[in-house]
Amino acid sequence: MIPENTSVTPERTSTELVDAPPAASEVVIEGLDSARFECVYPSCGGICCVNGRPPLEAGEAERIEQNLAKFLPHLRPEARERVAQKGHLTNRRKEGLPALAVSKGWCVFFNDGCVLHKVGAEEGDKWKYKPWRCIAFPLERSGSGRWHVRQWKHRGEAWDLFCLNPHESKKAPRETLKEEVRFVRDLEAGKESWRRLKR
Ligand code: SF4
Repeated sequence: MIPENTSVTPERTSTELVDAPPAASEVVIEGLDSARFECVYPSCGGICCVNGRPPLEAGEAERIEQNLAKFLPHLRPEARERVAQKGHLTNRRKEGLPALAVSKGWCVFFNDGCVLHKVGAEEGDKWKYKPWRCIAFPLERSGSGRWHVRQWKHRGEAWDLFCLNPHESKKAPRETLKEEVRFVRDLEAGKESWRRLKR
């Protein structure tokens, strides 16, 4: 599959290419035209939040911790108990970061949708508490820093979610993931620095 550039930028000198940070518009995301994806939430029930265990960046974990009292009343009873007794993180580490806990098979923050998303939306910013990996899904950044659209068996994809099946939809991510692509560009441009991304 040929990587696709999300936009065309003017040529720069070799010195500029070494010294300057990559412009947001230069983020390359493989599969924007060749992959197939369409989010059908809520009809899927939110199954990407089953056992997802997203890792949290330091800034994300801190912001959730500081605002935990806002989320607790909205959690499922068993998830609230888990968070009250042991916190919302696990000892398990993913990508070198602590991962969110699971209760009865679902992310502790799932309750008929993402509680972090819902509380953020009520405050005017649906992504202010949500881990970036959940916002960007199904766009994924590999260890080498390259982005791609997750698809069954592509680049070692092990998750068998039906929505990652390229035969499930006829729509290209460039059309269906405009918000997510914009977010990824902002993330790479440093506009989400409060999250303190570990590279
Ligand atoms: S943080 Fe929200 S979107 Fe991410 S897995 Fe948990 S419930 Fe789902």
